[in-house]
Amino acid sequence: MNSTLNALKSTITVPFSRPTIAGKELEYLQQALDQRRWSGDQIFSQKCEQLLETLLAAPKVMVVPSCTAGLEMAAMLIDVQPGDEIILPSFTFVSTANAFVLRGAKLVFVDVRPDTLNIDERLIESAITAKTKAICVVHYAGVSVEMNPVLEVAKKHGLYVIEDAAQAIDSFYFDRPLGTLGDLAAFSFHETKNISCGEGGALIINDAKWTLPAEIIREKGTNRSQFFRGEVDKYTWVGPGSSYLTSEFTSAVLLAQLESIKKICDARRDLWQKYHLALEDLESRGKLSRQVVPSHCKANGHIYWIMLEGPDIRDSVIKKLREQGIVATFHYQSLHTTKIGRAQSGICNELPVTENASDCLLRLPLYNDMPNPEAIVEQLAKAL
Ligand SMILES: *Cc1c(COP(=O)(O)O)cnc(C)c1O
Repeated sequence: MNSTLNALKSTITVPFSRPTIAGKELEYLQQALDQRRWSGDQIFSQKCEQLLETLLAAPKVMVVPSCTAGLEMAAMLIDVQPGDEIILPSFTFVSTANAFVLRGAKLVFVDVRPDTLNIDERLIESAITAKTKAICVVHYAGVSVEMNPVLEVAKKHGLYVIEDAAQAIDSFYFDRPLGTLGDLAAFSFHETKNISCGEGGALIINDAKWTLPAEIIREKGTNRSQFFRGEVDKYTWVGPGSSYLTSEFTSAVLLAQLESIKKICDARRDLWQKYHLALEDLESRGKLSRQVVPSHCKANGHIYWIMLEGPDIRDSVIKKLREQGIVATFHYQSLHTTKIGRAQSGICNELPVTENASDCLLRLPLYNDMPNPEAIVEQLAKAL
């Protein structure tokens, strides 16, 4: 078994994803070592935060260990209580749900739109009850959720909007950066995302009233941040909290990446566009349907996905591409079909678009120094 796996691995010539090296990572890591201040909320973390605050025009950004951590902080900040209901898509990563499940919330899954695979904004209002606390949207593939109707319905019913913007850095909705549209948002800087420091994330605070509470949660429930600013003369335990800081080494790598954000994301957008053109013919021949980016959304080239006719053809395409050394892959297995997903949501209606995406979606390799997408599409055409 092991030797078979190793043999397969050695034949990969096009992995599914690969982080970009922006250039200054080593230089900044050396500086971080030399500064002899290695823990969280110091020089490099603060530089990353300032850069993101400028980029997003957000009142406060906090570098955190992961998008998962950022979502957990968001759930604490809006004070999710046991029994509160959270509206979210089922076609998402587990962290979107776990952040709320950890606080005892009940999940209310809503289906996604077939074009973007983002939560279907038209289905949200009928999912709202007296217990609904928040809507957590996910900008899948870095393409914006239809936010204006979401914000409108949230306002009408007095609900918070949290953005799982894990995949959505440098993406826009009518020229507004994703991550700045809801009350709180989180980005991911995991190895597989456009901008990466291995494991990392950012919490975007769009209302300054949450800055101090977030500082307390991040610093183990203490007012240590205020102490360092000289605002209090001792620091002490003031509330529930955890450790949501990142070391300076992580932030050093992240700063190098963030300084190259436009270059990295523009290169991905170019690759995305090449895929899109190269796949036009296969779509017109009815072999697949291509990903859609609505014209009022600017995406970041995070994922290129296609939809195939069924799970059998998808699995056979995955296998045939793999034989050519190319790694293409499926995506989320819907949360509502898992045992824990069912337990956390009670009765859940069928979500046909979500289930179809779990069965038929294929993601193609996309990373900055990849071979020409046309070459991948040529192999894909043969595999179909
Ligand atoms: C990657 C991802 C996450 C998790 O990000 P981490 O930084 O690994 O915690 C959460 N939600 C979505 C939609 C993601 O794509």
